[in-house]
Amino acid sequence: MTYPNTQLFINGQWQDAASGKSLAVFNPATGQEIGRVAHAGVADLDAALAAAQKGFEVWRDMPAIERSKLMRRAAALLRERAGNIARLLTMEQGKPLVEAKGETLAAADIIDWFADEGLRVYGRIVPSRFNLAARQMVLKDPVGPVAAFTPWNFPINQVVRKMAGALAAGCSMIVKAAEETPASPAELIRAFADAGLPPGVLGLVYGNPAEISGYLIPHPVIRKITFTGSTPVGKQLAAMAGQHMKRVTMELGGHAPVIVAEDADVALAVKAAGAAKFRNAGQVCISPTRFLVHESIKNDFAAALVKYTQGLKVGDGTHEGTTMGPLANPRRLTAMAEFTQDAVEKGATVAHGGERMGDTGNFWQPTILTDVPLHAKVFNDEPFGPMAAIRSFNTLDEAIGEANRLSFGLAGYGFTKSLKNADLLARKVEVGMMWINMPAAPSAEMPFGGIKDSGYGSEGGTEAMDAYLNARAVTIMNV
Ligand code: NAD
Repeated sequence: MTYPNTQLFINGQWQDAASGKSLAVFNPATGQEIGRVAHAGVADLDAALAAAQKGFEVWRDMPAIERSKLMRRAAALLRERAGNIARLLTMEQGKPLVEAKGETLAAADIIDWFADEGLRVYGRIVPSRFNLAARQMVLKDPVGPVAAFTPWNFPINQVVRKMAGALAAGCSMIVKAAEETPASPAELIRAFADAGLPPGVLGLVYGNPAEISGYLIPHPVIRKITFTGSTPVGKQLAAMAGQHMKRVTMELGGHAPVIVAEDADVALAVKAAGAAKFRNAGQVCISPTRFLVHESIKNDFAAALVKYTQGLKVGDGTHEGTTMGPLANPRRLTAMAEFTQDAVEKGATVAHGGERMGDTGNFWQPTILTDVPLHAKVFNDEPFGPMAAIRSFNTLDEAIGEANRLSFGLAGYGFTKSLKNADLLARKVEVGMMWINMPAAPSAEMPFGGIKDSGYGSEGGTEAMDAYLNARAVTIMNV
């Protein structure tokens, strides 16, 4: 299968940048250039903005049932095309084909769920406290055209989590997806275009991320900003949105604690946390990263996690049997080397991995570090790679204190057989999402988002609809 060049999608048309500029796209398994992606300039952005305004007016006024049917048609097309789309995703991002196909099919499910949810955007009638002839109404209206900025780790999923809620609420959206992984999100947009989406409801642009966000966020057409990426960039964009009084959803970095209590089922903890850890080579915002294991079981846990890790097959994601692909870009290889060296210098032990594999592509060994001191970089900065850092604790309060020490608050994991401990972890660990005795299992119907420096707003459940709706109070006096 050949990898395509990716164009911009503006006003219902696939097109090159007006300037003709484009950027190279690389396969992370080979380091080879595999295609190009159009690089939008101001003329392209202006066209996308004008289209988004017109598209919004058409989409907002379409009955919710018609919007819902169209979304379901797009989901069906995505399912039909999942095999081919997965291959493009793996070629540009690196993850194993089975994960890429899973991501594509999950996107179809998310679209279906929001297609239904869009049918239930109800207002309210609230009795007046002064005069029963006054009909007080709460009306829910779409916020308007949205600008969405998404990263390269889940090229389809990160877009669909934003887009499905926005479309179901009646908003239009300009997506600035990641330049490093452009073809698979373009296929997501194509499914909507082929399902009959009116021009302008969705736009897709690529280019210089800072230039595009700097142009779209202040622009008067845009009424809402949604970003997924690192905390430092999120804070910059939120500040800019604040200056222009735009609504914001921020899905930012995490550094997920995994608390394995004294009474945990160690085999279950290793299987669940291991699967969550090495999925997408650890380049996942909810990936387990800080493993806090009770002193009495830390050696058993580390040995079992090493054994689990030895069973992974690292390779090109398109090859049969690969269970972990390369890192998505060379920046992550550099980061993994720095995290490892720093941890070792500060006294940690490399129990498994810790090195680059070969000299072609961005392959890094699944890595397990034990006895990691708290001041090691890996226990403070999000590793965003296939790296598990383990240290022990003596009391659950101590582990909860460590879990809450950092400013991140995205995902957390706990393993314990005691209901009392589970309840304590659920209440005390400061995260937006907590999974106890299981791997991460995000779903369309549950809120997805962080607290503290991991951001605000949600991309799942009814909360994700609220993010794209204005509540307006209207009272009519019956005279
Ligand atoms: P980065 O912070 O430069 O970029 C992260 C994402 O934000 C990229 O998609 C990038 O295109 C986009 N971006 C950067 N500056 C932007 C701007 N001014 N306006 C709009 N978009 C902008 O870093 P990176 O090297 O690509 O990734 C490194 C770190 O980013 C990781 O360590 C991780 O913490 C974080 N990250 C998080 C997620 C997530 O799912 N939350 C995904 C990818 C990366």
